[in-house]
Amino acid sequence: MWADVVRAAPPVTPEDLADTGGVTLVVSAHPDDETLGAGRLLAHWARTGLRLRAACLTRGDACFDHLADVLRDLDAPADLLPGMAGRREAEWHAAMEALGVHDRHPHGLPDGGLADDDALDVLRRVADDVTTVLAPWPHDPHPDHRAAGRAGARLAAELGARFCSYPVWMTYWGDPAEADPGLRRVAADPADDHAREAALAAFVSQLEPPTHGIGPIVPPEMLAHHDTPLLHVPTAHHTPDDAHDDTLGTTPHDTPHSTPGTTHVDDDGPAPAHGAPTPKEPR
Ligand SMILES: [Zn+2]
Repeated sequence: MWADVVRAAPPVTPEDLADTGGVTLVVSAHPDDETLGAGRLLAHWARTGLRLRAACLTRGDACFDHLADVLRDLDAPADLLPGMAGRREAEWHAAMEALGVHDRHPHGLPDGGLADDDALDVLRRVADDVTTVLAPWPHDPHPDHRAAGRAGARLAAELGARFCSYPVWMTYWGDPAEADPGLRRVAADPADDHAREAALAAFVSQLEPPTHGIGPIVPPEMLAHHDTPLLHVPTAHHTPDDAHDDTLGTTPHDTPHSTPGTTHVDDDGPAPAHGAPTPKEPR
């Protein structure tokens, strides 16, 4: 049970995690990853004067691609919400503003096909003065999240910076038996909760049903999995160097079995929401 894993995770405070002498770089694969997985922590850091910089690697514009068959069945247009890239980027800016993150760098790498080396190249361009890197957990069930996490860990290793990572889909799709020993519960206070709620509200394209018959990309039950803020801090047995390991995240639980928020899911059904995975991703 994830609840047992979460309960057993040692606590950590935001002050324990970042180096206050430099910039903390917050990496996300899609607009909203960082808010879902670490919104309270970012709000806390911003409120207490930490220098924050956010880099989002894709515009998340492929978030409905995995629903092509469903949309056809519903006679809905394939381009369900036109201008998705611009819409999601605008949502991301609004959310980061709500969290207090003003140094922002959106990028347009391929959503659903994020490559580690491309991600690392982009991150190197925004690495000035970075002494802490926060990225998606390199074992997260979504392949783009894993690529962003590995790239973040590699950047941190190159810079000699601290590294920690946040789960996005871990407790929703992942197997609790694979929980990392570095899992920590992050202390948060009501001010952080309020800022995160304000930031989350910006992601209308992800939180509201896009059309009749299709649930939201990020359903309420997924949000509930983030009621307790969690973070992975590398341990002696799981260092950033592990991120070089190509075997990361190739477990049988790699790819979610079905998609939240859809009304037409079959056994072979759509790949995970929240950005489409690469077509060659194992099922
Ligand atoms: Zn994502």
